[in-house]
Amino acid sequence: MPKAGKSGFGPERGGDILALPNRQFRRAAPPERPRTCNPESQVSVAGPEIERLITLLAKLPGLGPRSARRAALHMVKKRESVLTPLADALRVVGERVTVCGRCGNVDTADPCTICLDAQRDPSLIIVVEDVADLWALERAAVLRARYHVLGGTISAIDGIGPEDIGIGRLVERASDPAVREVILAMNATVEGQTTAHYITERLEALDVAVSRLASGVPIGGELDYLDEGTLAAALNQRRPFG
Ligand SMILES: [Zn+2]
Repeated sequence: MPKAGKSGFGPERGGDILALPNRQFRRAAPPERPRTCNPESQVSVAGPEIERLITLLAKLPGLGPRSARRAALHMVKKRESVLTPLADALRVVGERVTVCGRCGNVDTADPCTICLDAQRDPSLIIVVEDVADLWALERAAVLRARYHVLGGTISAIDGIGPEDIGIGRLVERASDPAVREVILAMNATVEGQTTAHYITERLEALDVAVSRLASGVPIGGELDYLDEGTLAAALNQRRPFG
């Protein structure tokens, strides 16, 4: 699922206004923004091949036209150490990338690296909405588990049903006697939690424990900055000290 907002910053969004030396100007009636300040409308500075590179880079999340130009310039300056290895890596991944038939992860092999990793605990399956969530949990390096990537959430409005996100396949995997626990690591959104409830019901008949991530105060978080929902969850899920 696309994470709206994560890439919503960057120079393409009113960079010229933020550059005004006096913040008072921002409250005055906004003048028509001069088009020449928009990097997208600048004249070409390089040949069509490099311009195409810039256009493609600007489509990446978190990169706008200005960052794309900077990245492209860095690449062409560092042809041997950056551009050529990057082009090779892109080609190889482009040729081999596939979706794991077992867990829905994206990798260059099917079954994926995680499914084939014998060091992982076969009794644990962590269910996530997106591959980005799998990568995030792997960064935390707490559990050496296997995963099940749904690729979305159930959504009546968008016409996405349980089988569109492979819940039947998850139930099948969870039916394996080796699996003892399914951890629902869904986003704390209405859609994520609706999907988690549905999965819990589907797994009820099986001999597996179903758990979900705790919600509450983030590490390093200050209570005064937290929203009411997070504070309420933290209080409701309080646990003994120590
Ligand atoms: Zn896999």
